[in-house]
Amino acid sequence: MDLKPDVLIVGAGISGTAMAIALHRRGLSVVLVERDAQVRERFKGEYLQPIAVHRLQHLGLGSVIESALEAREATAIRELRFRDLASGSLFSKAVSFLAGSPDAAGTLSDVLVRYPKGSHGVSISQHALATRLRAIARKELGADFLEGVELQLKSTTLDRPRLVAQGRRIQPRLVVGADGRNSTVRGWMGGPRAAATGRPVVGAEPEFLVGVDFETDARLPHRYEVIRTAGEGTFSFFQLSGGRQRLYWNTQDASAGKQGWRERISSTMDSQVARHLGQNAEVGSLAGAPANTAWMGPVGRGRFLLVGDAVAVTTPLGGQGMAFALEHVERLVEEIPLLFRQTQSSRRFSADELRRVARRHHASSRRYFHHINLMNLFLYHLCFSRSRVARHLSRAVFSHWNEHPQARELVAEYFAGTRVNGLTPLRIAELLGIPGMARVRALGGVTTKA
Ligand SMILES: Cc1cc2nc3c(=O)[nH]c(=O)nc-3n(C[C@H](O)[C@H](O)[C@H](O)COP(=O)(O)OP(=O)(O)OC[C@H]3O[C@@H](n4cnc5c(N)ncnc54)[C@H](O)[C@@H]3O)c2cc1C
Repeated sequence: MDLKPDVLIVGAGISGTAMAIALHRRGLSVVLVERDAQVRERFKGEYLQPIAVHRLQHLGLGSVIESALEAREATAIRELRFRDLASGSLFSKAVSFLAGSPDAAGTLSDVLVRYPKGSHGVSISQHALATRLRAIARKELGADFLEGVELQLKSTTLDRPRLVAQGRRIQPRLVVGADGRNSTVRGWMGGPRAAATGRPVVGAEPEFLVGVDFETDARLPHRYEVIRTAGEGTFSFFQLSGGRQRLYWNTQDASAGKQGWRERISSTMDSQVARHLGQNAEVGSLAGAPANTAWMGPVGRGRFLLVGDAVAVTTPLGGQGMAFALEHVERLVEEIPLLFRQTQSSRRFSADELRRVARRHHASSRRYFHHINLMNLFLYHLCFSRSRVARHLSRAVFSHWNEHPQARELVAEYFAGTRVNGLTPLRIAELLGIPGMARVRALGGVTTKA
């Protein structure tokens, strides 16, 4: 039998499942199609910023986080801490920001950012999060959630979508591509392919992000800890579920491969990091992914819309991808039901209004992407980069951070989601003390290629 849903959602990642469940609860008929039959174990999306937690709650999916916290499959994160272990040229004397910090010796900068009261982030494995979301989708959508299924586009026009899955024809009123960085739906819409690698922010070198399971005696409850080493990249640590720990390492050396990365991580942990985080570090399984920022565009064409990573990839620094994806979902689940107008005898779909929704979606996503990039530009120079340009900028960023507590507050509030739309990008850049104001406009929405 043919399926004629109001909305077909392609991809059951965080954005696809959240959107499918929310639209279904608002009375639309939804078909959700996922290519993978099983949730795969992956190194991605393991840290939810407070704003992403708020958004899940607002979408009526807060139980996913609460049940994971109760089952100890997730940990609440309340603080971000940035430490710089570099020696030599950057500063001639230590800048001890945290008075009396026991670890201050040997660090050039030690900055603690607390989330505003009432907000916290959450660390949760992608597997645990996706499994929970898929379980709700299965329960609520029933047979309209198709897993392990490949979709094919049959129509040649984007104004009358016709698709086939497992031999069944699907004729949706609207198609939402929530199928990630390498979106097939974006391809159908004539959008570009994602770059295989690129720059995390302007002025940086292209990088790889290596995710690692690791074990130490040290426990980091409630903290996301970033340690910038001397010459060996930056390590970000946080506690995962069941006593497991996660480490992310930024490297510009993609060619070293898994064995090379493992050796460098182990030796840097021993030589630089162990004295801050404890001895006996054991490096477990490991995987690399390109760390880049890219605006893909377009976000809407004909009866097709994109959400989440299919729209743009944000940097994986400190975890913002899911916040970005859920911002799309939160906004569109209010707007999409309005496209379906109930008349006395039938339900109508407003194609004109869809074009307006797509335009607003584009403008709003672009603005949000712009804000995130500005914040990242600041964090990147503070925490991650060792390139020559960045080293020069870092000095200004460090001084600004130390002299202006509002910069710290802005970062904490921004990621907790309290003032996202309250400030213009230029004002954010000004408050953060990002140098080169004349260039800031160009930096926000930049698309980078290797
Ligand atoms: C190494 C790494 C670490 C990261 N860490 C974080 C972090 O700590 N915090 C954070 O917020 N973000 C993080 N991110 C980014 C985050 O993972 C993404 O922003 C987020 O997963 C985007 O969600 P999505 O639903 O849009 O896409 P995805 O999570 O990519 O989901 C897309 C879904 O679509 C399915 N799919 C793909 N093609 C098709 C098709 N043709 N038909 C049907 N289904 C299809 C896929 O199988 C998948 O289930 C990280 C990314 C990487 C690579």
